[in-house]
Amino acid sequence: MGYDLERFVGYVNEGLLCCVCRDVLEDPLQAPCEHAFCSSCIHGWLVHHNTCPEDRLPLDITHLRPLFRYMRNDLARLQVRCVFRPQGCEVICALESVHRHEQQCDYALLNCSNAGCPVQVSRRSLEAHLCVCEYSSRVCSSGCGYTVLNTEEAQHNCVSELRAELDMLRAELDCKVEEVRHEMESRLDSQRRHMVQKESLLRSEVDELKGQLSRVMSDVRILLGAERARRQELERAELEKAELLELLKKEGLRPATPSEAAPPPAEVQRKLSPRSLALDCIKRKNREVTVI
Ligand SMILES: [Zn+2]
Ligand SMILES: [Zn+2]
Ligand SMILES: [Zn+2]
Ligand SMILES: [Zn+2]
Ligand SMILES: [Zn+2]
Repeated sequence: MGYDLERFVGYVNEGLLCCVCRDVLEDPLQAPCEHAFCSSCIHGWLVHHNTCPEDRLPLDITHLRPLFRYMRNDLARLQVRCVFRPQGCEVICALESVHRHEQQCDYALLNCSNAGCPVQVSRRSLEAHLCVCEYSSRVCSSGCGYTVLNTEEAQHNCVSELRAELDMLRAELDCKVEEVRHEMESRLDSQRRHMVQKESLLRSEVDELKGQLSRVMSDVRILLGAERARRQELERAELEKAELLELLKKEGLRPATPSEAAPPPAEVQRKLSPRSLALDCIKRKNREVTVI
């Protein structure tokens, strides 16, 4: 938005007016067609258009250039009234220095510096306002540490203020303690549930292991029985072998007689088991060899 034309003293060349807002150019840019605009005006225009607002020639944001130097100089030298004229400032100065003036202008409107005060006063009346502002406050002189509004100083009571704050802090603390207790309880509860689950899992594992152990024990018992039987058989076989060797030795020493071809004595025969038939066969052959 440009500067209000009303504020200018004397004639303002039409070339220094914005083609969008028709006020005096503020932060000016110009198009290739040499029409000039305030920067904010032309940027706003080009959001919805792509032509110069004056002659409708095609225009893109990248075509915009700074104003000619001589025009910038003309603009800077225009005489303008202070924006705080309605507040009483009579200053008139060049456009290029009006900002500097306005920042220090005694008639500039300022917000009251007291928090919460809605009053706007001119810089020159601020001090007077602060003396009477009902939002003025100061730190309590009795040492409670509270900042007290001037208007409430008569009613201020350090003890009751401090007690109220203490009550508030206590309530806050109670609330926090309750929160923490609740959180701890819920955490413990979830841990307890977890432990119960784990315990039942472990119980079932132990049961399964017990079952496996009893199966293994019965296997071991079977194997031990088989081993015992095998040993007994082995011992029996050893005995038979020894007997047979004894027999063979005797046969080898004695001369062969017809009676030799007779079956072995009843004592030996008794001992012959089906398993030793082969050995028995060998014995017979041996005897025959001896007879021959
Ligand atoms: Zn403008
Ligand atoms: Zn144009
Ligand atoms: Zn002023
Ligand atoms: Zn105030
Ligand atoms: Zn106090």
